[in-house]
This record gives sequence, structure tokens and C-alpha cells, in this order.
Amino acid sequence: MPELPEVEVTRRSLDGPLRGARIEAVRLGKPLRWPLGCDPAERLHGRTIGPIARRGKYLWMPLFDAQGTSDGGLLLHLGMSGSLALHAQAPPAAGPHVHLEMQTTQGTLRLTDPRRFGAVVWSASLADDPARKLLHSLGHEPFDEALTPEFLHAALQRRRAPIKPVLMAGDIVVGAGNIYACEALFEAGIHPALRADRLSRPRAARLLAAVRATLARALALGGSTLRDFSDAHGMDGAYQAQAAVYGRAGQPCRRCGTLVRRRVQAQRATYWCPGCQKR
Ligand SMILES: [Zn+2]
Repeated sequence: MPELPEVEVTRRSLDGPLRGARIEAVRLGKPLRWPLGCDPAERLHGRTIGPIARRGKYLWMPLFDAQGTSDGGLLLHLGMSGSLALHAQAPPAAGPHVHLEMQTTQGTLRLTDPRRFGAVVWSASLADDPARKLLHSLGHEPFDEALTPEFLHAALQRRRAPIKPVLMAGDIVVGAGNIYACEALFEAGIHPALRADRLSRPRAARLLAAVRATLARALALGGSTLRDFSDAHGMDGAYQAQAAVYGRAGQPCRRCGTLVRRRVQAQRATYWCPGCQKR
């Protein structure tokens, strides 16, 4: 599943080449999670693409008319299996999993999504529905300065569930997907089953630093090892190869040698080192 670092790498790769591109034609494939919500001829054709932004795992593509005013844009989500690729030359024939094909003056953008949990919806702005509705419950961006250790600690004080699913829920901080939540908890020395409200203020600070470090490493890996954004799905695998605990059940901890353990929490596999991570 594309996680926040992959989505951010995709954003960085598309923003440059697509900024200022004019949409010439749009073709929709099989329906995705929600309908597009606009008539492409009326809202998309002839529009120019503005700077692509990201909020959580959503990408926002603002569109501008010939006068330079924006009356809407597209909110995209890659779901479980989606990927976006920009073809500078004429792309190969579209297969059954291409759900959006946007021909622009800078190439053809394609959204491919075999499992169809992804989404492309038109919204008048980020402050209007459906974008507002989809984004309003998201927590802080992980690198947002407003997300302080004090804020995280106070937010965790209100939760009695184990720290790992609380972290993954995304309503306090976005971006801690399964692999990154496991790795950050290891780095911070925190047992994944510790009740969120039992985390001390210094441990909350260590956890925040660990979440940031884990995501920063993934972003650096994405930026340095991926030849192009269509490879963004390889990021999980590349990251996993150097993971401390994720996917390493039964193998010795790289730090202390204790065997890494696995358990299921909220339907997701959790990996942790009983030697390094304490309640
Ligand atoms: Zn260990």
C-alpha cells in the first residue's frame, strides 16, 4: 500500500513536469471509490495545472482557467494499489486498470489502480466539500512545527488504546503507516502494546523524533534510490530491507540480539523487540 513517503515522492516527481501543463483531454476508466463529481468538458478541459500539494496521503491538483483563476481542482488518493505515472511520449495502450488518463501539453498522466480503492474527485477548493470532508479529520503533518512533543503528549493522554494503533489512526499525526509505526516505536524504545495515555512526556518526545527520523529516512531513500516516480511502490520494499524490526519475526534484533516478535494489533501485524522496547 502506498504510504506517505511514496505519496510525497510521487508529488515531488509530478509537480515540476506538470506545473503549467494544460489539460487537453480526460478519459475515465472503470469507476473508482467515488464518482469524479464533475463534467470533464466543463471543469477540466483547457484548464492549467497549478502546484501539486499533499495532505496526508491525498494529492491536490489545483486547476486554473485562462484568466489565471482557480475554480476547482482534483483530489487524488492512491488507495491500496494505485500509482500515478507521467508519460512524456505517447503511452502504451491503456489496460483495464487505468482509471484516469489525462492528456496534457506536458505528457499523459495515468492513474493505474488494480484494486480500485483509490480515488479522483473534483472539488471547488480544499475548503469545500468533498475535499473538506475527506481531509478535516486528518491529524498534523509529521514535520509540521505545530506538532510539538507537548501537543503529542497531551493528545495521547486522551487515548486508552495501545500506542501503536493510536499512532496509525492518523488523527493525531498522519504518516505513521504500519512499517513506519513499528520502526518508530522500536527507535523510541516503546512497547507497541503500551497504553497511549501511559506514555510519559519525555517518551512522547522521543516517539515524535523517531516518527520524523523514520519518515525522513524513507523520503531520502525514495529520493536517492528510485529512478523515477513510477517506481514509488518499490519504496516499501527498499525500506523494509534495512528495517530494524518490521518483517523480521524470529530474527535477532540488530541492536541487542533478542529475537524479534510479531503479534496482530487492530488487524495489522506488529513487530517489536522485547529486549529494546519497554512498557
Ligand atoms: Zn533489541
